[in-house]
Amino acid sequence: MGDSGRSRGRISYPAASTPATMRRANERVLLERLARMRIASRADLAKAAGLSQPTAGKIIDRFLRLGLLREHQPGKGPRPPAGRARQRTGRPGRMIEFDGRTPRFLGVHLDVRETALAPLPVCPFAEVEWPVRFPTPDSPAEWRERLRQHKPRRLKGLWAVAVSAPGIVDERSGRVLFSPNLHWTERVNLIELLRSVWDLPVVLVQEIRALALGHLNAEPATEDFLLVDFGEGLGAAMVLNGRLYSGPVPLSGELGHTPVPGNPRPCGCGGTGCLETLVSRRGLLESMASSGGPAGSWAEFVAAVRRGAPPSWLLASMEAAGAVIAGALNVLGLRKAVVTGHLNDLPTAACETLAEAIRRGAMWARFGEILCELAPRRRGAGLIAACMDRLLPEISAKAKAGR
Ligand SMILES: [Zn+2]
Repeated sequence: MGDSGRSRGRISYPAASTPATMRRANERVLLERLARMRIASRADLAKAAGLSQPTAGKIIDRFLRLGLLREHQPGKGPRPPAGRARQRTGRPGRMIEFDGRTPRFLGVHLDVRETALAPLPVCPFAEVEWPVRFPTPDSPAEWRERLRQHKPRRLKGLWAVAVSAPGIVDERSGRVLFSPNLHWTERVNLIELLRSVWDLPVVLVQEIRALALGHLNAEPATEDFLLVDFGEGLGAAMVLNGRLYSGPVPLSGELGHTPVPGNPRPCGCGGTGCLETLVSRRGLLESMASSGGPAGSWAEFVAAVRRGAPPSWLLASMEAAGAVIAGALNVLGLRKAVVTGHLNDLPTAACETLAEAIRRGAMWARFGEILCELAPRRRGAGLIAACMDRLLPEISAKAKAGR
């Protein structure tokens, strides 16, 4: 690359050498360190980010003025670590944290059955409530109309809209390439659609990737993991080397479409026997109905499987899921699986069968420990983290201009 550049008589300098990209790189590392530390003195934050105190101080002051960071108010938010309240240098006792008070992003979660909206602060480990919910219609025009009806009156102060969507999602272009459970999204550009409702930048994140990013930010001390979500389908996303993995094509973690031998069910992807036809919500309800159990709502299903011993078809489905997840761990070289979604509703025996099947199939179990953890869905935190990552140039420009 460099050789061919020189052969044409030009030397191109790497982009990182320009002051603006240098500034953004410093800002990025400072925000990443603060997200891990939660709260820190100026001196500790500068040290953790590997920046001089004047450089870190300038960034902190700009972000304080912008309302992205704030000085810790004693008694509010996370407590400063013991012994750090009085600082040796700078302004004594003033700790820095994310300003989690003001909504800066609008979160939109497009799910197969329901769409939810939430105001999101800039704090990348915030626990988020989703106060607005409506059934997801079956056309883009109706969805746009419903979003308009639920549009917050006050847009002032919002920096962007963050949307998570299921399927194979090209996050940069705004296109959903394939969505077996929500086919209409394949016919629209989600970024353009949302921009026509809110005239704001739009950040699109595949829904399972948002969950993995949220888990990473909520538990920064975690080791690398494969997140597996049981929902309308079965999806996965992985954190490798401390970062959400993105491949060369916009497709990853599609564990749900691995065929299970002996399973004749047709899948929305066009295949037959896919794992998600057994362990998705719909798949589980179908298994219950075909085994002579009550055909009803999810709540009735949960109540039924929690009564008495778990049905053998449920344990067999968990075995199948565990084998597929173990295969993914073997390929990726990971030893930790984080499981989110409706598995949290199922009886302990079903979760244990899954964990046991993962251990049985995971090669690492022969040498060391395999970790399986049930966790809540931290979608809001994931969307915030994605916005802060992708919109840093815009946020940085706002901070520089003092807006
Ligand atoms: Zn499939």
